Amino acid sequence: MRQRIIQAEPLIRPVIFAERCSGCKTCIKHCKSKVLAYDRATRRIRVKESPGCLPDCRICARLCPTGAVTFSDEEAFVSYLKKRLDKIGHELATVDNSPPGREQKPRQ
Ligand code: SF4
Ligand code: SF4
Repeated sequence: MRQRIIQAEPLIRPVIFAERCSGCKTCIKHCKSKVLAYDRATRRIRVKESPGCLPDCRICARLCPTGAVTFSDEEAFVSYLKKRLDKIGHELATVDNSPPGREQKPRQ
């Protein structure tokens, strides 16, 4: 009898810095995985226990006007992306965030 081994994807959830969150709800409006909730008592966003985020999403972090959203599992996420891209013959591109005008050294 053949057995199928299903490898679970890493459960990815954002972390919200409450002191930076203005409660604008931009992140919730664009989240398609119902990971985020608005807490009326604190007037801030909170992260629900489950489910996890959609793979490769991070729209909330990109759209948050105050930089309140981050991801604590950066390493696991990058490794997960690399594996996915490797399967289809692509590589993860690196982005140089150094300020314009400064010499950019090639990454190794
Ligand atoms: S987009 Fe940012 S500031 Fe606005 S509610 Fe979400 S976490 Fe808070
Ligand atoms: S990364 Fe995507 S799925 Fe996860 S909370 Fe942000 S918008 Fe929702």
